[in-house]
Amino acid sequence: VLWALGLGGVAVGALAWWWATGVDTLVGRSLPLWVVVGLLLVAEATRVDVVAGRHNRSLTATEVAVAFALLLGDPDQYVLGVAITALVLYGVYYRLRPLKFTFNLGLAVTQAAVSLVIFELVQDGSPDSWRANVGVLLACMAGAALSDVAVTFAIRISGEPVRLRDMGSVVVMGALVALVPATVGIQIVALSRRSPWWLAVAAVPLALGYVSYRAFMYQRRENRRNEFLYRASLALHGSDDLEQAVNNLLEQVRSGLRAESVRLVLWQEGLTLTATADVDEHGRRTLAPADKSAVDTSELMLAHPTDGAPVARLVQRSLAGGVSIAATVQGKDVTGLLVVGERLANRDHYGDDDLELASLVAGQLAVALDNENVSKTLRRLQELEARLVYQANHDTLTGLASRRLFNETLADRDVPGSNAAVVLIDLDDFKRLNDTIGHVQADHVLVMMAERLHRVVRRNDLVARIGGDEFAIVLDEVSSDAELLVACERVRAAFGPTFDVPGFSLYVHCTIGATRLNDDFPDYTALHRADVALYQAKASGKNRVAIYEPWMSTAGELRSALVREADAAFDTGQFGLLYQPVYDLETRELVGAEALVRWLHPTRGLLTPGDFLEIIEEAGFADRLGTWVLSEAIAELARMNDATGDVSFVMHVNLSARQLRNPRLATLIDALLRSNGVRAEQLVIELTEGSMIENLDSASGVFTELYELGARIALDDFGTGYSSLTYLHMFPISIVKIDRGFVSSIARSNRDRLLVGAIVSLAHSLGLEVVAEGIETDDQRATLQRLGCGRGQGYLFSRPVQAAELLRERHARPLRALPAQPIR
Ligand code: C2E
Ligand code: CA
Ligand code: CA
Repeated sequence: VLWALGLGGVAVGALAWWWATGVDTLVGRSLPLWVVVGLLLVAEATRVDVVAGRHNRSLTATEVAVAFALLLGDPDQYVLGVAITALVLYGVYYRLRPLKFTFNLGLAVTQAAVSLVIFELVQDGSPDSWRANVGVLLACMAGAALSDVAVTFAIRISGEPVRLRDMGSVVVMGALVALVPATVGIQIVALSRRSPWWLAVAAVPLALGYVSYRAFMYQRRENRRNEFLYRASLALHGSDDLEQAVNNLLEQVRSGLRAESVRLVLWQEGLTLTATADVDEHGRRTLAPADKSAVDTSELMLAHPTDGAPVARLVQRSLAGGVSIAATVQGKDVTGLLVVGERLANRDHYGDDDLELASLVAGQLAVALDNENVSKTLRRLQELEARLVYQANHDTLTGLASRRLFNETLADRDVPGSNAAVVLIDLDDFKRLNDTIGHVQADHVLVMMAERLHRVVRRNDLVARIGGDEFAIVLDEVSSDAELLVACERVRAAFGPTFDVPGFSLYVHCTIGATRLNDDFPDYTALHRADVALYQAKASGKNRVAIYEPWMSTAGELRSALVREADAAFDTGQFGLLYQPVYDLETRELVGAEALVRWLHPTRGLLTPGDFLEIIEEAGFADRLGTWVLSEAIAELARMNDATGDVSFVMHVNLSARQLRNPRLATLIDALLRSNGVRAEQLVIELTEGSMIENLDSASGVFTELYELGARIALDDFGTGYSSLTYLHMFPISIVKIDRGFVSSIARSNRDRLLVGAIVSLAHSLGLEVVAEGIETDDQRATLQRLGCGRGQGYLFSRPVQAAELLRERHARPLRALPAQPIR
């Protein structure tokens, strides 16, 4: 709005100037343009400020100059003169910001335009007629009124509450006050027309009046200053709480100096930045640990205590411009800068006395800051900052370094000639443990691990927790791989004794990969090398240590080789399915089968999903492989239907999390079922809890579509993941598959038996079918059957077999007592 007003004002001025070029000058010689500008500038210079309450009014001799310009000057030169004066004053002298500059310029020329139009309407062509004089008076009153309205409006827009009633009286007062200099101006013009000597005579009372007024104003200012300082010290000492006191003081300074804002920036020895406090018209912020981004960096640089010179420069610059002022706060161990922002009132500017006031307040502040109080507050802030830094750098559970600090430390040590080493520690099967004993107990174990790790490292080594079940160590001094191996074995040995938590005595092993930070292997970063070593150690059977050796990179490249070879594997039909039979535990009938994918690799042999699935899915083959498995399993189902004529047989197909993200999954499955002539009721889609959680949004849509098709969904590996029963309610799930881990402990552990019993009865109460997987002993089978579990699969009955074998099995029908010939 202010921009629009300012630009509009400038346009009005330009229009008035164009109009005025067509209006005749009054009788007599016109004043030259430079005289008009000169008079206006001199008038501005004799300005005296009168402060009445929250309003600030300046008395100037401007109207005297206006009288001269209107009565003796050329009309268009008057508008031009005002424009030039405004440019010089606001642009060059005060150097106002663009918005304020435009607004003030617009206001000044509009004022001139309005004054000029009124004057021209009233005057009758003669410079000393009464109509011309009345014209000047009216013009000045209108100009003053316009200015007051505009300024009050601007203040209102910027958020200061100004009541309209107040505004009325301000405008009327302003118009009346403008009459005084306007009358004086008219008199002077009249006198000057009689004889220039009369001007000198008139100047004497004027000068006397001006001098006594200045004296009065000086006295007033002295009073105001004393009152200001008194209030400031009252504010500062009126509260025991330093933050409160500083805020009060800043508010006092702001209102006393009529500034838009006041900012205090503090520094303390050793810390770049301790606190800032801002107080502005709209609210206040308390002394807070400074957010570095919130502080103007130039201000930061200028006020930095290591070099006092920039501060002085800033203060000097502010003085010259009068736009804002700054004063240094120099305490014993606190340094700061008090910045008083731009003035609220438009044409107001700071003077020497304001700067002096600011410095005096800064001095008071410094004394207060040196008190016990302040050090306490700042110390508190320092502690807070330190806590924040600590938090970012440490794991809250174990107190070990965080991944962030680990990375930083590693980067610091990773310099040519470094003797440091990096050790990565991965807990074996910790997720399973987590599921078995619960998060709280598992957390205890992690804390114990942290303690043990601390015991086996030296003081300068850094122990970090870089993931849920991953630790890392940066060893400070290791001179050889042999020494590194010894250190790693010490770590591994620390995990040897059981971890005892209430109710459990647990063995948790770890696998370790490590490398020294020497520059023998420029191709790989230390972290990558340690990772490759860790991968190698896991591949060769966990619970062991591997120190990086160049050949391991080649092993690590197995992963990328598999990804490279996947494409050809599809084309040449290297993927295949085995089927693991599912039996009815009660009737011992073969009721279905689970399709399990295999990769018959030409050089690497038969690969199981654990060897390749994650690797090639990560590389983007999830949908391609998933689609192939689905179409192959459904086609096989159709062949078996044809062979046996029995369509009650169900085919279980595993889907990965990534496949759930395919919005056309249900459409695909529908098409496959149709083209093979298989009913959806014969298909079971197996999904783990994890993959459902990963895809909560897309999952429910896909599930509904599958449900509507008639296909059923099985919750796979139940009991290992989050084991939240919520999903049983949330999604249309028909089957729960009890995880192998549960089944294996069911004959031994009372607790697990109870749990499985509970799961089975819960599932039944929800109308779900239960399938137990991984049944290896007859004990397990008997127990499960007793608990009410309907179906099961496992090595006891059959390993995953070829389709032909499965078909033979189907013809044989009754449950076999002995395992089928293993195929894998
Ligand atoms: P799963 O869904 O839990 O499949 C059962 C796994 O347990 C199979 O391993 C199976 O061979 C094995 N198993 C069956 N009975 C017993 C037993 O009595 N004792 C023991 N120790 N193990 C038994 P496999 O075939 O290696 O599959 C591993 C996992 O790979 C599967 O776990 C499944 O999550 C995933 N998977 C297999 N095929 C596919 C597929 O086509 N698509 C997707 N997305 N995932 C698949
Ligand atoms: Ca499965
Ligand atoms: Ca499973």
